[in-house]
Amino acid sequence: MILGGGFGGLDVARAIGRSRAARDYWDTVLVDKENFFQFNPLLPAVAVRQMARHRNIRFYKNKAIAIDLGGRTVRLHNQRTESYDTLVIAVGSVTNYYGVPGAEEHTRPFKTLVDAMTLRARVVEVFEMAEQAANAAQRRRLLSFLIVGGGVTGVEVAAELIDMARDTLLPRYPSLTAGDLSVTIVEGGSRVVSSARPEHSAYVLRFLERRGVSVRRDARVARVEDKRVTLTDGTVLEAFTLLWTAGVHPPALVRELPLLHTPDGRVKVEDTLRALDPAGHPLDDVYVIGDCAAALRADGRFQPALSQTAIAMGSYVGKRLIAQAVGHPVPAFQFADVGYIISLGKHSSVLDLFGIPLSGKLAWLMWAGAYLIKMVGIRKQIEVGLDHLTHFFFEHDTSQIMNRRQVLSDEELNLSLGPPDPVPATPATPAPPAAPLADPARTP
Ligand SMILES: Cc1cc2nc3c(=O)[nH]c(=O)nc-3n(C[C@H](O)[C@H](O)[C@H](O)COP(=O)(O)OP(=O)(O)OC[C@H]3O[C@@H](n4cnc5c(N)ncnc54)[C@H](O)[C@@H]3O)c2cc1C
Repeated sequence: MILGGGFGGLDVARAIGRSRAARDYWDTVLVDKENFFQFNPLLPAVAVRQMARHRNIRFYKNKAIAIDLGGRTVRLHNQRTESYDTLVIAVGSVTNYYGVPGAEEHTRPFKTLVDAMTLRARVVEVFEMAEQAANAAQRRRLLSFLIVGGGVTGVEVAAELIDMARDTLLPRYPSLTAGDLSVTIVEGGSRVVSSARPEHSAYVLRFLERRGVSVRRDARVARVEDKRVTLTDGTVLEAFTLLWTAGVHPPALVRELPLLHTPDGRVKVEDTLRALDPAGHPLDDVYVIGDCAAALRADGRFQPALSQTAIAMGSYVGKRLIAQAVGHPVPAFQFADVGYIISLGKHSSVLDLFGIPLSGKLAWLMWAGAYLIKMVGIRKQIEVGLDHLTHFFFEHDTSQIMNRRQVLSDEELNLSLGPPDPVPATPATPAPPAAPLADPARTP
């Protein structure tokens, strides 16, 4: 039984599906709460069910609720309980709020396709509202965005957001200027994308600031309230839309298993990716891969939570399961990541591949090409390729087809846009730092 059909789980299933011996030996069931595969680096969707059908693997669109390691069963929704001989845990990760009070309640995560779609819809909605606002203070309030977390996801979201807002939306709303818009990143560490080379962190910082994003570094969030973030030094920052991209950890289903865990809840695995029990002994026939796994590298650090790690782990476990079917031994798991690619919105990226650093437009082309190759299925490759091409020549699509209730709270929905302004435009506490963007019409 494979729990989770993401980067890791899908590769286990694919490996089994490709081997006749493994197909005959294993009766494989893949369980995922979604029937699509979310390609996080681009966040489009490709079919999981379709892939499973072609490869003689049963697929259940269902959610694992509890794992009983002793009884070798997994409880699913709809009162189904499935037993297993061998279990692969590949359920990925969920947003980590690090126990910051109010963070989960008052910020929006950016982890799923639905998160991405609702954010996009919300951006369009607040522009529509700002266009009708009675005064500049209200326009600025509506068009303020704050992102907590300056890691890869945070900077990529900021870059896309500023592109869409500035290049596509602003020209379509005659009452709005670039000065009404503010995008702020709050990063706890001293540099953005700390996993990248220091010179790439500096490049990303310069790039974002040039595009008008305000970046606050060494700024740790102590508390979050409605549209308001308080830092540990007492500074209060306000924004109409708060996003949380500060980190991930495994879901409670995995964090609560009676196994050996890292402090953030990942399961420690030995060199064949089998889970370790609290005494440090490997559990026969329970593999943990991808974002849920803490696998030691040769340098004593853990493998990074990246799609390439999950794919390598999935292929490795797939190989082990094939080897078990044909009776061959498999050496220990070894993997060195090939580098990283960080997209900075329209046609710019920074990357480090096999130790070679690159930035700018060529890096963006390599980013687009690399992820296109990685997509599952020729149909999605063509669709996404055409989409990239369309984006080269046209702006973002700004039609907003979601229900307003899905993207705005009741209070936001009923916000008065006419005078007198019912909400104080300036905060009671120190002024927000979210510097409005320079208006291109007024700056050289
Ligand atoms: C916005 C974003 C951008 C990213 N960009 C990059 C990037 O550019 N490069 C990179 O290398 N990495 C990137 N990552 C990280 C990368 O996506 C993860 O490291 C990778 O997806 C981990 O693979 P996985 O198989 O462990 O989990 P996932 O790919 O997340 O798959 C987990 C699967 O389990 C399913 N699932 C979860 N809970 C249950 C349950 N209880 N029952 C059944 N099914 C369940 C989910 O539906 C999902 O299909 C990004 C992540 C995000 C969120």
